[in-house]
Formats: sequence, C-alpha cells, structure tokens
Amino acid sequence: MSKTIISKGGCLCGKVTFTARTMNPHARSCHCSICQRWTGGPNLSVDCGSDVSFQGQENIRTYRSSDWAERGFCKHCGSSLFYHLKQYNSYIIPTGIFDNNSQFIFDQQIFIDEKPIYYDFANLTRNMTGAEVFALHGTDNDQSC
Ligand SMILES: [Zn+2]
Ligand SMILES: [Zn+2]
Repeated sequence: MSKTIISKGGCLCGKVTFTARTMNPHARSCHCSICQRWTGGPNLSVDCGSDVSFQGQENIRTYRSSDWAERGFCKHCGSSLFYHLKQYNSYIIPTGIFDNNSQFIFDQQIFIDEKPIYYDFANLTRNMTGAEVFALHGTDNDQSC
C-alpha cells in the first residue's frame, strides 16, 4: 500500500486552492496527446482519490475530455487543476500546482507510445503504452485519458 499525505496547492492567480487528504505521492507522467494539449507538455500528476476539497469553486471551469473524465481549470488564469474520473469520483492533480513538491516520487510514465521524440525523462520509471494501460485497467478506462 502507498502511504498517503495531506497536501495543499492552488492555481497561478490564487483564486482556487485545494486540500488533498489522501494524496498518493507516486507521480506519473502521461504523454498522451490530450494531456499534452491540456497542460502544454507531459502531464505529471498524482492520484488524490475522492477526498479533495476545493476553495473558490466558483472560479473552476470543467472540460469534458471523454465519456469518463473531465478536466478542471481556473477560469481566470487557466491553470490546469485536475483530471476527474467521474465514475470513481477520483481527482488526478498535476504535481506542479502543489505548494510543496518534496514528497513526490516520480516512477511511472504512461502512454509512452505517444511521447514526442524531442524529450526523454532520465528518471527510472515503469513505462506503459496506451494499450498496456487499457489492458491493465479494463475497457472502462479507469486510469487512462
Ligand atoms: Zn487562477
Ligand atoms: Zn493523458
């Protein structure tokens, strides 16, 4: 089991902040084309489960990027806030918007087959293709983009 850590963060302009009470510190990068467009690059994020509270909710807009997930962003500054798996009410939050990043362990890359050739991470990680992610998590895509 992964240990969990209470963690806080927020958007660039400060109008949205959050508290995640069951954050899993194991960070993964998603290289899929949807995440690339959403964040402007590879999407490093952590699974925060359902126990996340957002302050400044009126400043959050969501974009439904698939049948199973929506992506939240600050309507004032545009910061990417979360990838929300609706079926599980689970929030996957980008590592870059946490106040403290010392707790993260970067050890997984997914949709490695969609990674552009102009960069490579040097971290020792477990890498999975999109097909491997789908095979692991089933056809309801509980962890994929
Ligand atoms: Zn903002
Ligand atoms: Zn992705």
